[in-house]
Amino acid sequence: MQPRLAIVGGGPAGMMAAIRAAVTLGEGSRVVLFDKNERLGRKIYLTGKGRCNLTNTRPWEEFAPHIHPNQRFLQQAFRAFSNEDVIRFFEELGVPTVTLQGQRVYPASLIAGDVARALERRVQELGIEVRYTTTVGSLAELDAYAAVIIATGGKTYPVTGSTGDGYRFAQEAGHTVTAVFPSETALLPRGYDPGLPGLEMKNVGLQLYIDRTLVESELGDFNFTDDGLESGIAYHLSRRAVWALCNGQKVDIILDLKPALTLEKLEARIARESASGPRPSRLDPDSLRSFLPKPLVAPFRRANPDLSLDNLAKRLKSWSFPIVDYKGFERAVVTAGGVSLKEVVPKTMASRLRPGLFFCGEVLDLDGDTGGYNLQIAFSTGSLAGTSAANYLLSLQG
Ligand SMILES: Cc1cc2nc3c(=O)[nH]c(=O)nc-3n(C[C@H](O)[C@H](O)[C@H](O)COP(=O)(O)OP(=O)(O)OC[C@H]3O[C@@H](n4cnc5c(N)ncnc54)[C@H](O)[C@@H]3O)c2cc1C
Repeated sequence: MQPRLAIVGGGPAGMMAAIRAAVTLGEGSRVVLFDKNERLGRKIYLTGKGRCNLTNTRPWEEFAPHIHPNQRFLQQAFRAFSNEDVIRFFEELGVPTVTLQGQRVYPASLIAGDVARALERRVQELGIEVRYTTTVGSLAELDAYAAVIIATGGKTYPVTGSTGDGYRFAQEAGHTVTAVFPSETALLPRGYDPGLPGLEMKNVGLQLYIDRTLVESELGDFNFTDDGLESGIAYHLSRRAVWALCNGQKVDIILDLKPALTLEKLEARIARESASGPRPSRLDPDSLRSFLPKPLVAPFRRANPDLSLDNLAKRLKSWSFPIVDYKGFERAVVTAGGVSLKEVVPKTMASRLRPGLFFCGEVLDLDGDTGGYNLQIAFSTGSLAGTSAANYLLSLQG
């Protein structure tokens, strides 16, 4: 009889690991998948605003810069099970995909549940034993298993079951866990103007300053929400911003409302437009309408009480938001930090410290930007951990 494999966590990484292990071990495989919930992949149902952005079609060279903090660690897992493989895998499971803006891949139905259910169905078809509503309390509880894969995810949206238990399990085996912090999350400015939440910003620029030094710039879209600057390019900046706030550094975001124009060109345009009318020293709301969408006029004026034609261009290109807080694990998209990559073999996802122990998914110190990168991390590392754990078990049988 084959030795048994335990997989803790039935998210995308754990399900993919279970599927790969069962396929590699073949008939009579003894794979057991534990999850806290009454159904698998609970977080998947929330992904991509209910549509599930399951990967991104960018080739590795363009994909890699969206992976943090060590893109090289993912490379072998990605090559072994790439974004193209993910698309093929789901098509074979009866989930055709569609590629939308930003090379983001979704199920053609745009229903996240289709992805979760297809994975869960495949797990069941392969005869994998699923222990639903079972919380593993410690690694020691799994001593009877010849191999264990930790796929417990990170700490974000803990209502889905991801409460960071895997960090404790890793430490039990002697692993280092780097500091964890929420990423891809809303950034709250000081004195957040009540007129801003609900506004969607298109084609703007954001610059992140840490201790008054420019560290990152992004162009694109984001939203002002009740929680602050959120989504799109604001999420991209949030990883460094949150880390800096955790370290007590000063964080400022500068919003450029006219990124397509240089300061000089914008000044020239303002001079041209104002030449046709009387030149007021303070701008009235109507004259601002030609430069700003209507709902932004009042908050912009409140943020710039000394606004004049002389400083308008500069203010449109550098609206400053001192960031004082961020949305925590309860609402962040992903957890940065986790099981140190130095102690995990990138070619197999095996622990360097304990034979028969493997890791995959968000529990690792590996995270991606929004755009399908995090699920690809889960699928690539899950696939590799599952295959490697199965090969390890086969090697034990001699
Ligand atoms: C709102 C939201 C939207 C997102 N949208 C996208 C998107 O569109 N595209 C994208 O690429 N990424 C997205 N992500 C990120 C992505 O969902 C995660 O990175 C991914 O789910 C991580 O997969 P995982 O399998 O490692 O962990 P998880 O999905 O967190 O799964 C871990 C599982 O382990 C189980 N578990 C934990 N501890 C135990 C224990 N002790 N015993 C038993 N079971 C346990 C949990 O119940 C859970 O089911 C989104 C995240 C959020 C929160």
